[in-house]
Amino acid sequence: MKHPAEPFKIKMVEPLYMTTRAHREEALKEAGYNPFLLKSNDVYIDLLTDSGTGAMSDNQWAGIMLGDEAYAGSRNYYNIVSAVQDIFQYEYIVPTHQGRGAEQVLFPILLKEGQYVLSNHHFDTTKGHVELAGGKARNFLIPEATDTTTYYDFKGNFNIEAAEAFIQEVGADNVAFLIMTVTNNSAGGQPVSMANMKELKKLADKYGKLIVMDSARFAENAMFIKQREKGYENATIKEIIREMFGYADILTMSAKKDAIVNMGGMIAIKNDVEIFKAAQVRCVPMEGFATYGGLSGRDMEALARGLYEGIEESFLEYRLGQVKYLGDKLMELGIPIQYPTGGHAVFVDARKILPHIPGDQFPAQALCNALYLESGVRPVEIGSFLLGRNPETGEQEEAALELVRLTIPRRVYTQSHMDQIVEGFKKVMENKDKLVGLTFDYEPPVLRHFLARLRPLDQ
Ligand SMILES: *Cc1c(COP(=O)(O)O)cnc(C)c1O
Repeated sequence: MKHPAEPFKIKMVEPLYMTTRAHREEALKEAGYNPFLLKSNDVYIDLLTDSGTGAMSDNQWAGIMLGDEAYAGSRNYYNIVSAVQDIFQYEYIVPTHQGRGAEQVLFPILLKEGQYVLSNHHFDTTKGHVELAGGKARNFLIPEATDTTTYYDFKGNFNIEAAEAFIQEVGADNVAFLIMTVTNNSAGGQPVSMANMKELKKLADKYGKLIVMDSARFAENAMFIKQREKGYENATIKEIIREMFGYADILTMSAKKDAIVNMGGMIAIKNDVEIFKAAQVRCVPMEGFATYGGLSGRDMEALARGLYEGIEESFLEYRLGQVKYLGDKLMELGIPIQYPTGGHAVFVDARKILPHIPGDQFPAQALCNALYLESGVRPVEIGSFLLGRNPETGEQEEAALELVRLTIPRRVYTQSHMDQIVEGFKKVMENKDKLVGLTFDYEPPVLRHFLARLRPLDQ
């Protein structure tokens, strides 16, 4: 069983660093048993994130040489404008240095102190910027999203019934706007259906609310619609994207994902010139002048070109196929994963593999570390270690799911690398009963998972 072959060939290579088990044991100890603190030279296959880790094409690198570094009115900005007008049919564009830059510029314009923002699921920086702007973020997942074993086509959907009940409970005036995240990152990169976007638009119109599309993985979502939703089999990716964004008003984007650049983001506004002007005004002090938003001209050119490369159907077919290939291979080994696989990662259910390690000893982190020791693969924990303590009681909360995320960078690793990851898991599974939980040596007060140091509980 193979996935669709790479629709590209390799022109430039970067060496990988192979290490011995003894070296990795030392490196992990030095990193405080926290993969975030490993040096990338000590990592063989890096699955920490798909953000900014993609490989740019020869066409994008050629674009880098055409960077127009004018402080104002750079040609490359206008190339982004025409790409966005063409692909999304949104009129007004404010570039930003990455996705969270777009959030910090936009949200205070749309939000009054104390208002709620409703989403299928806020990404963590998105929630952070809603709160920094004085708002309260609420998530409305569908029940299927947390059932990892049952197949459902669109686990990323917005729970519209629950959202409407909430609007009626708090009163429409207390709701600022709605955020549709595509694909739904926090639910495992799961897609949202076109029907669900249409329904959300109806709800938004009924209560007079704007919809912001959090668009990091807009192209992967469009491909899932083509593959899974009746009526879209023969539509082009661009047609699907235009319809999707027709049901929203504004987009924020981290271009480090589906636009395949190492840095970049934007706000785009369908047609409201007042919001555009307000975003330009806030962009200047926060990100930079309104035609560069923290990006050099060359970065904007790579972004404009990446938007087109990211929506190529052959690329998306290969991309979703590669993630599914890894998920299928792991399932063949009896490893429980979030099923079906989403767009950018395979999520392994660590609680099911390590039932002897309780949540407050971080079973998914223990599994991440074991995979690193066995194979040099660096995954990331999405569970109790990431979740942190209850801010009121100071107690460690147990996450609903203890997951190991294997995040696949775009156009970087081959099928042989996927097989290496599977081999690593085979070894982990042989010794899983011997794995132990972890406790803190150092616990930072906020966003602790990035910088925390841990120690295994047998030491
Ligand atoms: C990555 C991401 C963001 C934030 O973007 P950055 O470029 O990391 O600042 C926002 N929303 C979603 C859904 C994301 O995946």
